[in-house]
Amino acid sequence: MNKKELFEKAENVIDRRRQIAKTQAEDRRLEVYEKIPVIRKYERDLANDMVDITRLILEKKKDSSSMLYQIRDKNLQTQQKIKNELLINGYPEDYLDEKFTCKLCNDTGIYNGERCSCVYEIIKKIATDDFNKNTGIKLCDFNEFDTSYYSNTESTLGNITDRQHMANIYRFCYQYADTFKVNSPSIVMLGNTGLGKTLLSLAIAKKVLEKGYTVVYGSSQDYFTRIQNENFGKSKSNESTMDIIKEADLFILDDLGAEYETSFNSSIFYNIINTRLNFDKPIIVNTNLNLQEIRNRYEDRVLSRLMGQCKTLQFVGKDIRQLKNK
Ligand SMILES: [Zn+2]
Repeated sequence: MNKKELFEKAENVIDRRRQIAKTQAEDRRLEVYEKIPVIRKYERDLANDMVDITRLILEKKKDSSSMLYQIRDKNLQTQQKIKNELLINGYPEDYLDEKFTCKLCNDTGIYNGERCSCVYEIIKKIATDDFNKNTGIKLCDFNEFDTSYYSNTESTLGNITDRQHMANIYRFCYQYADTFKVNSPSIVMLGNTGLGKTLLSLAIAKKVLEKGYTVVYGSSQDYFTRIQNENFGKSKSNESTMDIIKEADLFILDDLGAEYETSFNSSIFYNIINTRLNFDKPIIVNTNLNLQEIRNRYEDRVLSRLMGQCKTLQFVGKDIRQLKNK
């Protein structure tokens, strides 16, 4: 999708929001006319005041200003009468007002003569959805994570059993998603294949998306190939993958290490990490590689940034897919 299409789509969303706000207000007005008929009369008075004011201004008479004040006072009184009637009849006093989604621009898309911030929010959301649609991800729910697959007797990491350890990781991830902010910490999920790293990061993605944040998710192989193609001019896309990664509120890089081992890919990874961490934006990295393998593959500076600025979650246990097959 190019910029022009994005803006058109965003404007359609805003138009629809405005229309819905107006229709709903109109429905409430008809309901109120039915129950409190005098309000219809008051509203007609208000409309007549506007006609009188317009006429006075056009006539430009000398003593018009005192008359303008009179009409204004009468108008304010009528507005107050409407509010009182609504309150007496058990409605909120702003019941007849249009309830716009964006309080800045009243869903017009223009604020102080410029494009309102809500337009950019919508564009970000559309671009993210579009991107994820192309990536073909299927989100998960936290309740799909089952701790009974982790041993209740083995203690890979010492003090507590694997099951208790994984229950702690689960709680951390749930809490993380539940309290997500644009400056939440970054996470590295370490551990062998089939221990639930992808499941938990897709559950985080879903919850964070539902809170209205933008999340971009994909495997390292996908991203690195896209970025490589863009760098060598092979891509037809109008948006740069690096820009999308930079813009997202949360970026999740799945299966680091599955991509081809080249120095180009290594530098892409370093760029991604830098881009996110320099702007204090969270990234979640999943990998089957252990720390030594990460160091061998991506240079020390990557490992030190990752370990220095990310919360590390070490997944333990046996491959769940194999356990399920038994
Ligand atoms: Zn707005």
